[in-house]
Amino acid sequence: MRNKKIIISGGGLAGLISSIHLTRAGVQCQLIEKQSYPFHRVCGEYISNEVVPYLKSLDVYPEELRPSSIRQFQLTSVNGKSASLPLDLGGFGISRYQLDYFLFQKAKQYGVEFHLNTEVEKISFDSNHFLINTNRELYESDVVIGSFGKRSKLDIQLGRSFIQKRSPYVGVKYHLQLKNFPNDLIALHNFKDGYCGISRVESDRVNLCYLTHRKNLKTHRNIKEMEEAVLFQNPFLKNIFKEAIFLFDKPETINEISFETKAPVVEHILMAGDAAGMITPLCGNGMAMAIHSAKILSEHVIRFCNEDGYSREQMENDYANAWTRMFARRLQAGRHIQRLFGDMWTSNLAVNLALYTPPVANYLMKKTHGEVF
Ligand SMILES: Cc1cc2nc3c(=O)[nH]c(=O)nc-3n(C[C@H](O)[C@H](O)[C@H](O)COP(=O)(O)OP(=O)(O)OC[C@H]3O[C@@H](n4cnc5c(N)ncnc54)[C@H](O)[C@@H]3O)c2cc1C
Repeated sequence: MRNKKIIISGGGLAGLISSIHLTRAGVQCQLIEKQSYPFHRVCGEYISNEVVPYLKSLDVYPEELRPSSIRQFQLTSVNGKSASLPLDLGGFGISRYQLDYFLFQKAKQYGVEFHLNTEVEKISFDSNHFLINTNRELYESDVVIGSFGKRSKLDIQLGRSFIQKRSPYVGVKYHLQLKNFPNDLIALHNFKDGYCGISRVESDRVNLCYLTHRKNLKTHRNIKEMEEAVLFQNPFLKNIFKEAIFLFDKPETINEISFETKAPVVEHILMAGDAAGMITPLCGNGMAMAIHSAKILSEHVIRFCNEDGYSREQMENDYANAWTRMFARRLQAGRHIQRLFGDMWTSNLAVNLALYTPPVANYLMKKTHGEVF
């Protein structure tokens, strides 16, 4: 069966890149996104360089947005002990506000059909066919790509087990002007029950994004009081907050961030990006994984569309196996390494590892990243 209909549910990095990859290969698709570009997201906005050749091959590397180039890593412990290391592969810094909008425009040029401000409410599969209910219209398709991110109402509808458990993590993001912050640095500062990443994005802006345990917020009345009482215990963070000019009226926030294991195929929906599994943010690899999973997924969908005899079952099994081979260990390493963070003793241990045994620290970092693709 040729001319299959493809619907992509969610237009973050995984959804946008899938749409571009498929359309460039001659497979038409529609993308449904509940918001409208451009918009801010909670994200550290540091992307590993492992994605660069692939983005260039799709002609969507965002050179013209002048991303920052990041090569150095600084780690500080809860009480402010510091170590610095060169990054093996490095990365670039670009705001999601700009990057996602840029990819949206590219996707439109390639011919992707968008349905914005449209929320997918239910996806059902029957007789080899999908029905997609949204708050506006009903769509039908042969393939659904689930790229709806870390947590969506759809996870409840699909009965996914991770959504039943409460998750204690809250994410907070600001953009700053910060004069003396080096152009090529990503810093990761620990504080009690959390950690905060800081790095440059485009246009002289600095991203400051942290993950905290919910109990920090419960103990203090609001975000500002929590920052002063908890984050400021790390002298590096205190200085940054004092010196910075904050560019948002209020921070972007999200809660219930879960790092539980998920499945890459659910009810015949092929999941990509955080919808398939979320790596802990300290690894700085979630966006690269969203992009890489979109690539692998698109390759399987293209084969399903073009090759007679390549069945849905084969496509689902092949994709699930390829996803597991590529990402499962990385997610596990991220969960283990996160245990070294947010505690006085273990964060000092992590800094000492970086100071006195850089090869071990490099080895751990490599475990959370993939090869260039
Ligand atoms: C605090 C924090 C810091 C991070 N820092 C970094 C970092 O520095 N580097 C890095 O590489 N990664 C980082 N990450 C991870 C990274 O942000 C994610 O891995 C990445 O955004 C995943 O992309 P995605 O396309 O899967 O999901 P998203 O980018 O979240 O996109 C999902 C999209 O689906 C849409 N959607 C959801 N439900 C529906 C629905 N029902 N109908 C229609 N649309 C829907 C949403 O509006 C959204 O646009 C961080 C994450 C957190 C929480």
